[in-house]
Amino acid sequence: MTKLELTQWNRSVLTKISNSANALEKDKPFFKEIILFYKKIFLSQYESDPDIVKDYSCFTNHKDFPCINIKDFDIDFTNAEKTFKNICKICIDSGKEMSFTAGTMLESIDKKDVLFKILVEIYLQKDHGLPELFLKKKEFKPEVFDFIVYNSMKPSIVKSSRIIASYLNKQDQAGQGACPVCGSLPALSVLSEENGARSLVCSFCWHEWETARITCPFCGNHNNKTLGYCLIENEKGIRADYCDKCKKYIKTIDLREYGHDCHYPLELLGSMPFDMKMQEKGYSSE
Ligand SMILES: [Zn+2]
Ligand SMILES: [Zn+2]
Repeated sequence: MTKLELTQWNRSVLTKISNSANALEKDKPFFKEIILFYKKIFLSQYESDPDIVKDYSCFTNHKDFPCINIKDFDIDFTNAEKTFKNICKICIDSGKEMSFTAGTMLESIDKKDVLFKILVEIYLQKDHGLPELFLKKKEFKPEVFDFIVYNSMKPSIVKSSRIIASYLNKQDQAGQGACPVCGSLPALSVLSEENGARSLVCSFCWHEWETARITCPFCGNHNNKTLGYCLIENEKGIRADYCDKCKKYIKTIDLREYGHDCHYPLELLGSMPFDMKMQEKGYSSE
């Protein structure tokens, strides 16, 4: 990794990914293998910086949310294809259930049976269906296809979203249930290190926006008689907030207590015990 042009932001994310993975591996030895696998994937996303050329200045002081449809994010296809190849190789090397699908996808791109751009279109427009050359293979898993294509584009999505968000006012976005940038539902909620203010984190573009402390992001319920939270012993600085009105839950990280660097996609995986517990109790996530 000598001559790669890493922006300062990329470098800080790479550090966060490593620190977060190290802390999770130490705290949760039973997740070690899975954390190591995802750490490789997430690190590969920040090894180079996508070139986002679209002018998003039309969103200056924009108040009509969401700003864009997920299909309209500007993607640096050269960067995304490079990341795609790296992710496929990581999945193949893992020797796990993702190997076959990743191998099939990589081969189809290398042989030019299908263009990478088409895979992205298929992912973004779900109604298109997978190409015949994938469908005829029994072991091909559509969910692995989604995982690989999404994670290949993610650096471009995150960067586009950061650019769009830079034109928005924080207070205009406050209290939105869905992501003000792309309209996707939140994957996580975070209480800030400074004063415990609550933000939601988008499950698609990872944008963060402020919200009320006691409100269900999914149905807007703010009656504290039907809202609650669930803790797990030895899980410090994290809980699951649930709503009895819509039966949904969201995991909340309290950065004042969490105790280590956060890379949200990794934290989502490391907090799986909460998903098991909440799903057992009949709640679902986004
Ligand atoms: Zn979003
Ligand atoms: Zn609710």
